[in-house]
Amino acid sequence: MQYIPLKTFDSYITANMWLGRLLEEGIDCYLKDQYTVTIDPILSNAIGGIKLCVNDGQLDRAKNLIKQFEEENRQAQKCPNCGSLNVQYISQPGKSSNWLLAIVSWVFGHYALTGKQVYHCFDCGFEFDEINNEDAEKE
Ligand SMILES: [Zn+2]
Repeated sequence: MQYIPLKTFDSYITANMWLGRLLEEGIDCYLKDQYTVTIDPILSNAIGGIKLCVNDGQLDRAKNLIKQFEEENRQAQKCPNCGSLNVQYISQPGKSSNWLLAIVSWVFGHYALTGKQVYHCFDCGFEFDEINNEDAEKE
């Protein structure tokens, strides 16, 4: 039995969200390097981020689930300003390059990094913290 890295993340929170969703579906998986990345975000680039590793026997199913979840996320992430679905969860501020953000986060601890994620609409440029769609989520 082998574990194959299926997806990589810069953010500890995003990585754990995906891990949780796959575990809910009974996928045998774990996060590699999550503690290294959390302790020292600068290392995140060096080691390629947090890797979501999946049991190779369930790889196809995991891939399909991720595709399905990504599609659901796209549907759910609607810009409250213009209604566009072209919205992504990104690190703020956009004008800052990633290495700078990494240094800032390193200096102030990883809380700085996790506190700087926002939804950004690529159509109108509107940024927002939360999407109120939890009630609409299907069981
Ligand atoms: Zn918009």
